[in-house]
Amino acid sequence: MKIDTVDVLIAGGGPVGLALAIELGHRGISCLVAERNDRVGYSPRAKTTNVRTREHLRRWGIAEALRKASPIPPDYPPDIVFATRMDGNLLARFENAFNGQRVRNEL
Ligand SMILES: Cc1cc2nc3c(=O)[nH]c(=O)nc-3n(C[C@H](O)[C@H](O)[C@H](O)COP(=O)(O)OP(=O)(O)OC[C@H]3O[C@@H](n4cnc5c(N)ncnc54)[C@H](O)[C@@H]3O)c2cc1C
Repeated sequence: MKIDTVDVLIAGGGPVGLALAIELGHRGISCLVAERNDRVGYSPRAKTTNVRTREHLRRWGIAEALRKASPIPPDYPPDIVFATRMDGNLLARFENAFNGQRVRNEL
């Protein structure tokens, strides 16, 4: 694809650039994503996605494929614990910290 034949040039292949490319593609608008790095970041990112993001992923038809590829299963304990050390005193525990449990949330 040549740059002077596309409707939209997107600078950056992060979540915003890639989401924009998918949206434009679904609407038949040609685009080209230009990313300066050979990969985005060197630490895991977007390991947690919120409800609104999941809505987009479902609409794009990739939600289940991403769920299967996730290294963290949905039933992974979602509590966050603060302690003085690994076997020390418990300071605080936030249960279901990411609202990931498959139970009804009254909020
Ligand atoms: C360690 C870490 C963990 C995270 N975990 C989560 C998480 O679990 N869930 C979540 O929702 N969010 C998470 N985030 C936040 C999430 O990664 C960011 O909110 C998101 O990446 C922002 O997307 P973006 O497309 O705006 O920007 P970026 O992801 O920063 O993408 C911008 C891209 O543009 C490229 N670029 C910039 N300038 C140019 C140029 N001139 N030409 C070409 N390319 C260019 C950059 O190289 C980059 O790839 C995490 C962030 C970090 C750092």
